[in-house]
Amino acid sequence: MSGLKETDPEVYEAIGKELNRQRYGLELIPSENFVSQAVLEAQGSVLTNKYSEGYPGKRYYGGNQFIDITETLAIERAKKLFGAEHANVQPHAGAQANMAAYFAFLEIGDKMMGLSLSMGGHLTHGSPVNFSGKWYKVIAYNVDRETQLLNYDEIKKQAIAEKPKLIQCGYTAYPRLIDFKAFREICDESGAYLMADIAHIAGLIVGGVHPSPVPYADVITTTTHKTLRGPRGAIILCKKQYAEKVDKAVFPGLQGGPLEHVIAAKAVCFKEAMQPSFKEYAKQIVKNAKALADELMAQGFKLVSGGTDNHLILMDLTNKGITGKEAQEVLDSVGITANKNTIPYDTQKPFITSGLRLGTPALTTRGMRESEMKEVGEMIAKVLGNKGDAAMLEKVRVEVRALSERFPLYKSRGA
Ligand SMILES: *Cc1c(COP(=O)(O)O)cnc(C)c1O
Repeated sequence: MSGLKETDPEVYEAIGKELNRQRYGLELIPSENFVSQAVLEAQGSVLTNKYSEGYPGKRYYGGNQFIDITETLAIERAKKLFGAEHANVQPHAGAQANMAAYFAFLEIGDKMMGLSLSMGGHLTHGSPVNFSGKWYKVIAYNVDRETQLLNYDEIKKQAIAEKPKLIQCGYTAYPRLIDFKAFREICDESGAYLMADIAHIAGLIVGGVHPSPVPYADVITTTTHKTLRGPRGAIILCKKQYAEKVDKAVFPGLQGGPLEHVIAAKAVCFKEAMQPSFKEYAKQIVKNAKALADELMAQGFKLVSGGTDNHLILMDLTNKGITGKEAQEVLDSVGITANKNTIPYDTQKPFITSGLRLGTPALTTRGMRESEMKEVGEMIAKVLGNKGDAAMLEKVRVEVRALSERFPLYKSRGA
C-alpha cells in the first residue's frame, strides 16, 4: 500500500492498526469473517472506476465488455453454487437486497410477517425503526417462551389468521436449524410468498451443513460477507418466473451503478465456496460452535435453546450478574470481540441486553479447531467471572495474544 502511505498517512495508519486488531485479537462476532487475499485483490481493483448501470449485455454506458465478463461469472457461479434458477449479484448490502426483494413482491402498505428483532430477526424484517416497519404492515412472530425455538404450528395459525402477502424466514441470532419446508407449507396454506434471508447461514448451506431454502422459497436474499466469506455485499436468488421483477427492483428500482469491483470479488468468493475445502470449512465452523457451546455450558453458562446447530451461540447472562453490554466491553478490553444481543423475552433494553452473541466463522477461517474453542471458552469464563480483577484480565489478554499468534492472519500483508 505504498501509494496510500504516501498520499494519506492518516488513513494508512488507521488501516494498519485495524489489521493488527484483526491479527492479534479473537473475532467471535458471528457475522464477521476474513476474506482471502484473492477477494481483497479483486475488491481493491480498477473495476471501481467503471459505471455499468444495467445488466450484462444490456448496459446504459459504453466500455463494459470486461465488466460483463466478471458480472456474468458472478451470476453463473451464484446460480451453480446454490442450485438457483436466477441470481442478481448487484445489491450493495443485505439491507438493500431485502429492500429490493420487498419491492419486487410487495406494494407499500402490504402485510408481511417476520420474526421480531428482539427474538433474532433482522432490522429489515419489519422493525418499526427501519423502512420495512414504516412502509409495510408488519405482523411479528415470536419464538416459543419455553423452548426458545420457532413453533411452526403457532406461526401457521398466525399466518392463516393474518393472511400476510409475504413471510420472511432467516435470522441474525437464531442458533438452530430452520425448517424451510415447514415455512413453505405455512405459505401455501396462508397464500403468502416465502422469502428466506440466509445472510448468516449461506456458507453453511453451500457447505452442506444446513438445509437449503432453494427448493421452497420464492425469493432468497443473502449477504456475501458472513459465513460465505466474500466481500461486503449481497445477492438475490429466485425462481426464473420472478427474475424480471427482481432485476427491475434492484435496477432501476433501487440502485444506480453497481459496485463492479465488489461483484468481481463476489465471483471469486463463489469460486472459493465451490471447492471441496469449503465443505470442510463449513463442517468445522459447526463443530467449533458445538465445542465452544459445550465448554461454556460446562463453565456454568446458560445458552438460549440449550446449545447450537449452526455457527452461532446466544449466551443468556441473566444468572451471572452481568449484562450483555458489560460482557461485550470487558471482553473487548482483553481482545475478544463479541456482541451484546437481546435474548428472547429480554427484560433489559436493546442497548443493554441480557445476552451475548458469539460465532465461530472467523476463528475457523484462521484454522482453529475444537481444542482451541475449549481454550476460548475458558478465557470467556475467566473474563466474565472476574470482570473487576485487573490482574486476571491482564493474564487473559496475554493468552489471547498468544493464541492469535499461533494462527497467523494475512501473513503476506504489510501495513
Ligand atoms: C446481516 C444481515 C442483514 C443485513 O446485511 P447488511 O449487509 O448489514 O445490510 C440482513 N439480514 C440478515 C438476516 C442479516 O443477518
